Amino acid sequence: MKYVSTRGTAPVLNFEQAMLSGLARDGGLYVPETIPTLSHAQIAALAGKSYEDIAFAVMRPFVGDTFTDDEFAAIIARAYAGFSHTARAPLVQLGPNHHLLELFHGPTLAFKDFAMQLIGQMFQHSLARQGTRVTIVGATSGDTGSAAIEAFRGLDAVDVFILFPKGRVSDVQRRQMTTPIEKNVHALALEGDFDDCQARLKDMFNDLEFRDSVRLAGVNSINWARVLAQVVYYFTAALSLGAPHRQISFTVPTGNFGDIYAGSIARQMGLPIERLVVATNQNDILHRALSTGAYVTDALHASISPSMDIQVSSNFERALFDASGRDPVAVCAMMQALRDQRGFTIAPEPLAVLRALYASGRVSEAETLATIRDIYDTTGELLCPHSAIGVKVAEDSLGREPMVTLATAHPAKFPTAVAQATGQHPPLPARMADLFDRTERMRDVPNDLSALQTLIRERIAL
Ligand SMILES: *Cc1c(COP(=O)(O)O)cnc(C)c1O
Repeated sequence: MKYVSTRGTAPVLNFEQAMLSGLARDGGLYVPETIPTLSHAQIAALAGKSYEDIAFAVMRPFVGDTFTDDEFAAIIARAYAGFSHTARAPLVQLGPNHHLLELFHGPTLAFKDFAMQLIGQMFQHSLARQGTRVTIVGATSGDTGSAAIEAFRGLDAVDVFILFPKGRVSDVQRRQMTTPIEKNVHALALEGDFDDCQARLKDMFNDLEFRDSVRLAGVNSINWARVLAQVVYYFTAALSLGAPHRQISFTVPTGNFGDIYAGSIARQMGLPIERLVVATNQNDILHRALSTGAYVTDALHASISPSMDIQVSSNFERALFDASGRDPVAVCAMMQALRDQRGFTIAPEPLAVLRALYASGRVSEAETLATIRDIYDTTGELLCPHSAIGVKVAEDSLGREPMVTLATAHPAKFPTAVAQATGQHPPLPARMADLFDRTERMRDVPNDLSALQTLIRERIAL
């Protein structure tokens, strides 16, 4: 299996190289040269199997010869052993034709654990074999950072630096990043918003001298391996509801477009997905782009669903690449316009391709709170604000096929909004009940590339 860049000029890599590098050297994102497919019979044969077995069947063709079958099965087993639910991604019914896919039973209570725990195991295996070290730098709106730190804390071959927007993550998110005691963990509070964090991260990758000298590795959702891990639960959920013998739709609370893009890969692999519905908060660039064709950045608004407070959706580049017939020249032109003019208009043909697959909706703060309250009253289920945005958009777009809404975080990760809506204070699971008693350790950093590079060089030299 070979991986090519959406911008067409970076070297073609194998799975391991694409995983360890993250962003392509031409600024693009790696995608498989071709998407492997599973036949109707192969998908049907997965019904009733464990999460781990389905994960193996779905991901194996993408991994190539990076791992043997036995190694890969062991990696998967270790990755999901720390989840607190044996189904890993259980489904809960909300209404006659509406189901919630609970993706928050991992160690840091958000869906990011599905990919990050797997990547942690894969990195460890590869780096031990190669005898090398890497410096992982990640940008986070809250959940990626905590999941990455949890996955990489204490690993010998890795230093992990996480940039998060100062004052814009929830207390639980921040504490999950700042309380681990391992020396290889560095939580950095950046003066700016998430887009600033993501922009500085991209700058570091595009500074090839820096990138090579610190052996920079990226674990943001630009990393193909993360997208791949997320393809699995589209299969487990759809199989539980009768696929491949019927069509299933999914609604996905969306920020960086990684999670929903994984759904489009599942569909390309042969899973009968009818619609993928993008749910956004008031930071609605994706909803506007799909509605009008104009992908134009706007000011970022802080919301009660901070993990979706994003304007530049990195993984949308992969969707644009697919929709434009995998044309890197077209992608480069759009990304150039995004840099120079803050946006671009999607040409009619790719827009039609995108609209055939993706629907979208946008939810206000008041509607988010009302949905948390309503679902609690009618089902007893407490939703985090991100999941509530998904549920609201899904309810507005129910069709005849079963709808699955992805519940992306545990309500206890965002207790303020949940309490405001319902009067209930969702408790943290027992295994992290002492989170607020632990000592925090973090460093304030300016929104400045060279200051960040100096700090990283100093820390890894220690
Ligand atoms: C990251 C995150 C999202 C957005 O996912 P993307 O893959 O960036 O679109 C939504 N909800 C929660 C809770 C998250 O942590």
